[in-house]
Amino acid sequence: MKGRLFVISGPSGSGKSTICKKLVDNNENIVLSVSATTRKPREQEKDGINYFFLTKEEFEKKIKENAFYEYALVFNNYYGTLKEKIDDKLEAGFDVILEIDVQGAMQMKEQNNEIVMIFIMPPSKEELLHRLTDRKTESSAEIELRTAIAIEEMSKKDKYDYIVVNDELEKAIKEVEDIINN
Ligand code: 5GP
Repeated sequence: MKGRLFVISGPSGSGKSTICKKLVDNNENIVLSVSATTRKPREQEKDGINYFFLTKEEFEKKIKENAFYEYALVFNNYYGTLKEKIDDKLEAGFDVILEIDVQGAMQMKEQNNEIVMIFIMPPSKEELLHRLTDRKTESSAEIELRTAIAIEEMSKKDKYDYIVVNDELEKAIKEVEDIINN
């Protein structure tokens, strides 16, 4: 493989998606892996761009076919990294970022110790709650679930190679860029 693999995790509301998007916009050598999920698309989300949206049956068929490097149940939906999708990009020489949860990140590290693991932290619990509530794309039950999982995820941050605190977006992007381009 010619490209390198990076995992970026962080709780919902940490700003990791914004950081990943900027990294890809700013660096033509970096691409974001598109995961498969059984979650319903949000408004604006497009199949094949944000995720490959699959039914539960389709996803489970791919599990049986051993098509995933890793998969996990997150917020009651399956999410997974399709082998084929990232192998092609690595082979073409791109650095690939996997924006995946802690369970998936650990599965990736077990298979490939070379992977660089980065955890994005929100500046404080208060700010995290503020960001989660402000987003308005989720119901209050969903927000409660995401908050509980966020706290659980943050307790695992020390398993990562780098922890980046997103208190100032541009600074956080630069920090991640420096890690990747080193
Ligand atoms: P969302 O529903 O907000 O798009 O994503 C929910 C969570 O699923 C996030 O923590 C995200 O990092 C995680 N996730 C997205 N894709 C994957 C994947 O392919 N594998 C795993 N394990 N987690 C994923």
